[in-house]
Amino acid sequence: MSQAQFEPTERSRLGRQPIRGSYDEGAVFEVLDAAVLAHVAYVLDGHPYVTPTAFWREGRRLYWHGSSAARMLGALADGAPACVAVSLLDGLVLAPSGFAHSLNYRSVMAFGRARLVADPEAKRAALDGFIDRLYPGRAKTLRPGSDIELAKTSVVEMIIEEAAAKSRADGVKHMAEDEDWPAWAGVLPLETRFAEPVPDATIGATFKGLATPPPHARGARLDEALSAAMAKATAPV
Ligand SMILES: Cc1cc2nc3c(=O)[nH]c(=O)nc-3n(C[C@H](O)[C@H](O)[C@H](O)COP(=O)(O)OP(=O)(O)OC[C@H]3O[C@@H](n4cnc5c(N)ncnc54)[C@H](O)[C@@H]3O)c2cc1C
Repeated sequence: MSQAQFEPTERSRLGRQPIRGSYDEGAVFEVLDAAVLAHVAYVLDGHPYVTPTAFWREGRRLYWHGSSAARMLGALADGAPACVAVSLLDGLVLAPSGFAHSLNYRSVMAFGRARLVADPEAKRAALDGFIDRLYPGRAKTLRPGSDIELAKTSVVEMIIEEAAAKSRADGVKHMAEDEDWPAWAGVLPLETRFAEPVPDATIGATFKGLATPPPHARGARLDEALSAAMAKATAPV
């Protein structure tokens, strides 16, 4: 893990089960880099919203994007406070009592202020970063985006001001009252893997035989593939 830490304040200081948490920048990045999806929370007209969205990271900067018409992106245009949560579910933990059931997970909550990326070149670079973060080296192989496509897309950035990571990777919590109860107890691990790729029937058909293979191997774990892709995308050249 890195030596850099996020400095917690009252809003980000772990209260419950702080033993499972960390403010270590490396621990936070590790969870972020293993995920595609985040939930972005913000307040609009006095009402809280939580929007699920794809996101990506560059240093301490988080990005997400969408249609320029999206309400969420409009609400987060100009320094609005936002909280971004990312979670990965790693297992179901079954105990003889309902009370001792649990989940294994990795998660991050990050706080900051969101802003639209206005400069077209910065926007283009950020969007290429999104592609390369998922599929290293792919952006430069793609049809360049047009100005109209760029105008139709909004990109939001949020520099992480504070963040904490939290995880559980344990077995069943043992309680004396549960020891002799005849219910199955243990962990049901969960993982998401790539299934068989489904090539499009027409796109690229004229290049048959020349098309590059899909970037992630069938059977690979999504979280591991994403972490490896991120490491590759950010490796010094
Ligand atoms: C997949 C998943 C399922 C969960 N299911 C449950 C559940 O069913 N019941 C339950 O009580 N809890 C569950 N949790 C844990 C939950 O996210 C909270 O950590 C917990 O409920 C304590 O909430 P709190 O508001 O008291 O947190 P506090 O510890 O008071 O929160 C203070 C600060 O700590 C940090 N923090 C808190 N929780 C997290 C987190 N998960 N990840 C990163 N930083 C965090 C944030 O900075 C937050 O602002 C789950 C977590 C995950 C990832």
